[in-house]
Formats: sequence, structure tokens, C-alpha cells
Amino acid sequence: MTTATLKYGALQNYIGGSFVPDAARSLDVLSPLNGEVISTVPLSSATTLDAAVLAAKAAFGAWSSMPVKERVQIFYRYKTILERNAQSLALLIQEENGKTLDEAMAEVEKSIELTEFACSLPQLIAGSIMEVSRGVECRIDHKPLGVVASIAPFNFPLMVPHWTIPNAIALGNCMILKPSEQVPLSAQRMADMLKEAGLPDGVFNIVNGDKEIVEAICDHPDIEAVSFVGSTAIAKVVYRRATANLKRALALGGAKNHLIVMPDASPDMTASNVVASMSGCAGQRCMAASAMMAVGNVDLIIQKICDEARKIVVGKNLGAVISAAAKERIERYITEAEKGGAKVLVDGRNATVAGKEGGFYVGPTVIDFVTPDMAIAREEVFGPVLAIVRTKDLDEALAIENASEYGNAASVFTQSGGVARYVMEHASAGMVGVNIGVPVPREPFSFGGWNESKFGVGDITGESSIAFWTEYKKTSIKWNAEARTNWMS
Ligand code: NAD
Repeated sequence: MTTATLKYGALQNYIGGSFVPDAARSLDVLSPLNGEVISTVPLSSATTLDAAVLAAKAAFGAWSSMPVKERVQIFYRYKTILERNAQSLALLIQEENGKTLDEAMAEVEKSIELTEFACSLPQLIAGSIMEVSRGVECRIDHKPLGVVASIAPFNFPLMVPHWTIPNAIALGNCMILKPSEQVPLSAQRMADMLKEAGLPDGVFNIVNGDKEIVEAICDHPDIEAVSFVGSTAIAKVVYRRATANLKRALALGGAKNHLIVMPDASPDMTASNVVASMSGCAGQRCMAASAMMAVGNVDLIIQKICDEARKIVVGKNLGAVISAAAKERIERYITEAEKGGAKVLVDGRNATVAGKEGGFYVGPTVIDFVTPDMAIAREEVFGPVLAIVRTKDLDEALAIENASEYGNAASVFTQSGGVARYVMEHASAGMVGVNIGVPVPREPFSFGGWNESKFGVGDITGESSIAFWTEYKKTSIKWNAEARTNWMS
């Protein structure tokens, strides 16, 4: 097939307000729904990055000197453009990522909420001023950094770029986005919509690519800050390389999220929440339930979890996983756990969807009697798989959770306020849920894990993004001659 006959043709980079072809290598973009090639994406070189940085630098002076209240007007308009395009964006997300249409729509809605937060930045960044000694005042202003970069993963093609782009840009920076090469289509729509909203050329740029461009971003002398979201292995590489080059970096990594189910938990609510958490987005969420600590006798709840999981229709309310390699990896985890003595209660291996035989599907899978040392209990599976570990009491469950190298989310299901409070206090995770399977904080509460789920200071959204995307400028001022000369003069 030539690129002209592909549904979305050959994608280009977006530099200085125009889509520009790249002569570099390219990669096929497949829809996980049916395995068909829908586009190609350029795997750009460092030379392309140089051009994007030059365009961003050229735009920075005018953009950063515009008052923040004026800058956010663009995001008010952008929000209405997102709303108007919600359906077509959701369809595109579904096609490139494989998730269900409802899940894709939820991703658009969250992107809208993130844009709303950016619109509130003028209220949040109002500086402070104080008379620090007679006739002398100090003030703080938030100043943008310059050219910054955002590197995104495949699982939320629209939402993860919205974690960084509206805030970073509204705060006065010029941005280079490196989307996941597996899902590069939604980002192209962002470029169109931001332009329609009135964003000046060069403020937002897209450089597509893989490892080579990520390394070039970390090395580029004119990029001041790098945010990254992806797997822990690559988060470490990016964090080390960017900070070694004296850049600011925030790198969010992978996860292994624990749900602690107590015997007093509400059976129906727990079962539906646990299954929604483990199967939503085909388990490809960094907040997905992955390991369930079954404390004491919770057999009835486990039975209800299996009943719920069996109701799921693959291809209808459970989408595809991202690639053939992902499907193979997920199924390997299940088979190895089974070989190790775990009991597969609901088996999602070898799932297919009629008419979409080329798609990459794994059905909902529930595995009981997993032991904490098994790979499926410790490692990120990133598929619709729930590994159940039996524990005698809450402390044993918490000890397993605490021993995880990750620390994005942990949840407890219980009717006891005391138990909930104990888990809130002792879980080693940045985001904790009580009777909630996916404890993603809504805006303005910020998103960020602990341990090897995040490298760097602060969270990626919310108020801590202000500290990440700006410098604090402290000015001391004295105008009146009669002010006393003191140690501050
Ligand atoms: P990934 O680490 O493979 O890729 C992320 C980005 O890094 C992509 O843009 C990719 O092009 C680039 N990349 C890949 N290999 C590289 C290399 N060797 N050197 C430099 N750059 C490289 O992650 P993914 O598979 O796209 O996404 C899934 C992962 O992201 C999961 O581990 C998931 O938990 C994690 N994730 C974490 C969060 C969070 O908030 N902590 C959110 C979403 C996804």
C-alpha cells in the first residue's frame, strides 16, 4: 500500500505553525482494532528537532511577554473547540489506540478538564508582595522557562499531552511535543485546534520519532525542561540524561497498583469497581488495578468479580491492546503464573473479535492464588489481568504493597473508616483510593506517583506544574529616599 492510499496518509511534523514532511525514516501506524496500517509516522532526526527549537525560540519573546490573562483566552477558545470536536476526537483515539469509544470519550472529557485548569492559572499564579523592611518591598513573579518538551506514551494519545501542554504554554513557554510513535494521530488534531484557537505559530510544535529524538531532546542545549510519561525503564533513561544535561526533568514511569479487599467490603460495589479498574482501557492504564490483595475470606467477592468479568464482551466493552507484541507479553504472564501454580478463574487468552481477526485482543482475566514472588504479582503486565494474592490480614497485604518498586495507586475496599484510614496512612503510593478502583485525582488535585513511578520533584498536573514550568523571580524594590539604610539597602 502506498502512503497515498492509507486512511490518514503519511504524517508530518508540525513546526512553526506548518506541517512539514520529514525525509527521515518512517514507521507504519497500525490500528489495534483490526491490525490494519492506517498511516505512517516520521522517525525524525536531531536536525528536525533543531528546526523545531528554532521556531519555538523565535516565538518565545512575543508569547512570554503577553500577559497571562491574555494567553489563557486562547485556552478558553480551545476548550470550546475540543468540546465541538469531541466525537471525532474520540473516534480517532479509538482507532489509533484500540480503546472503546466510551473510554476515548472519557479521555476527551479529561482533556477538557485539564484545559479548564490551565484557564484558571491567572488566579493561581498571582504573585505575592510584602514590605519586608521600612520602605522596601519584595515581590515574586512566575517567569516561563523558554523552550520546553513533553514526551508522551501510547496509552492516552490525547489526555497525557494535555497534562503538560495547556499549563506549560499558558504559563508562557513554547512547547515541543514528542507523541508516542504508536499513536501519533491525535496530536496532529491538537495542532489544528490550537491554531484555530489563535495560538501563535511556533508556540506549539510536534516532532515525531522514537529513541533518537527523545535522546536529542534530552541533549538539546536550548530545551530548558523535559517532561516524560512512559515506562519506568525509559523514565530513568530520560530523567538521568536530561538532568545530566542540567535540565529540569519530571519523568513519570510505570506502575503496579494494589487493591486491598477486606472481608467487610460491599460485595457488589467492590466487584464492579475492581473489574472496571482492571479491564478499563484493556488494563493499559498506569492507574489500573493489577494486583488484588484478598484479605481473609473474600470468596463471595471473588466469585462476583469473576461473574462481572465474564459479562464483558471483548471488542464491545473491552477494547484492544496496543500491539501483537503486547498481546503476546500479557498472555505469557498468564501462562507463566498458571505454570507456577496459580489458578486461572477467567481466561482471556486467545480472544478474537469476529470481523476484526487482525486486531490485538486479550479478554478479561482473573487469576487466583498468585504468590507475591511471581512475576505477575510484581511486574507491570499492562493488560486486562487481575492477579489475586491471598493474605491473612491487612498488615500482610500492606507489606506486599509497600514492597513494590512502583507507587502510583493503591486502593482499599472496606466499610470501616478505621481500616481505610490505616491504609491511607501506610500505603506507599502517591494516589490512594477508598472504595475507588482508579483513584485518579480530578483537577485541581494533582497527578503523580511515588517510588519508581515518578522521578523528579512535584506532580505533573495541578498547582505543582506551576513550579515545574516556571522560574520564580524575586525582586526587592525601594523608591523612597527616606527609607532607612539597613542591611537590605
Ligand atoms: P514507553 O516507555 O515505551 O514509551 C514512552 C515514550 O518513550 C514514547 O514516546 C517512546 O517513543 C519513547 N521511547 C521508547 N523507547 C525509548 C528509548 N529506548 N529511549 C528513549 N525514548 C524511548 O511507554 P509506552 O509503552 O508508550 O507507555 C506505557 C507505559 O507508560 C506503561 O509503563 C505505563 O505505566 C506508563 N504510563 C505511566 C503513566 C504515569 O502517570 N505514571 C501514565 C501513562 C503511562
